[in-house]
Amino acid sequence: MPELPEVECVRRTLEPDVLGRRVARVRTTLPKLARPNPRSLARGIGRRVVADTARHGKLLIMQLDNGSFWTIHLGMTGQLILAGSRPQVKHIHITVSFDDGGPRLYFRDPRQFGAMTYCADQEALQAGPLANMGPDALGMSRARFVERLGGRGGRLKSVLLDQRVLAGVGNIYADESLHMAGLHPLSRPKDLATEDLGRLHQALQKVLRAALKRGGSSVSNFVDAHGRPGTFQHAHRVYRRTGEPCPVCRQAVERIVVAGRSTHFCPTCQAGGVPPQP
Ligand SMILES: [Zn+2]
Repeated sequence: MPELPEVECVRRTLEPDVLGRRVARVRTTLPKLARPNPRSLARGIGRRVVADTARHGKLLIMQLDNGSFWTIHLGMTGQLILAGSRPQVKHIHITVSFDDGGPRLYFRDPRQFGAMTYCADQEALQAGPLANMGPDALGMSRARFVERLGGRGGRLKSVLLDQRVLAGVGNIYADESLHMAGLHPLSRPKDLATEDLGRLHQALQKVLRAALKRGGSSVSNFVDAHGRPGTFQHAHRVYRRTGEPCPVCRQAVERIVVAGRSTHFCPTCQAGGVPPQP
């Protein structure tokens, strides 16, 4: 699933190609991906000019010239493709054309967990796509991070994945930052010292920025708006490296399931944070 760095890479590659362009037409062939429904999406963003782009967590946000918003969530496998003619690939469910007749924006989503949403104003954006979403993880201050996580009783990995606590972190960057910080995924924030959480904050910022620099991680089908895959998957230390040597201590990386998600960690480097007894 595209996480914060991947969505930010999409935003950065998309922005120069959509800014200032006026939407002409929106064609939806899979109604459940268009919210509130295909007709409202088409009427809401049709004839509007893209005034600005932003991102919150894993949500891509386009501000339109009348103060309304057009948001895109890539879900598990969503891709945005800018092209002059319909790409020869399956699973294109929404096509947005512009009144300049230039490249169209194609929303492709094989697994169909993504969504394009029209929000009439800031209030609708907050109550809709941004509802129950905590502050964005990138650039969050150490104090804020410690305040958001500190004292929580859940497993550290689950807390990191909880978009209500902080927005943007998914399975990859949770595993990678926990390894860098030397913390066990099953530890609990309430048992950790402030300096442990501070170390995790630093690790998370470092991992997110490194991934951004390398165009994100392409572990399933991720590509940016120009169709380019990221390369950060080659720098993963533990994620999906079960049985391979830890890059720090050479101990084999282990895999457990936390909150229903595959979790990869080094039992030696990540003994920190009071792991549970077997
Ligand atoms: Zn290790």
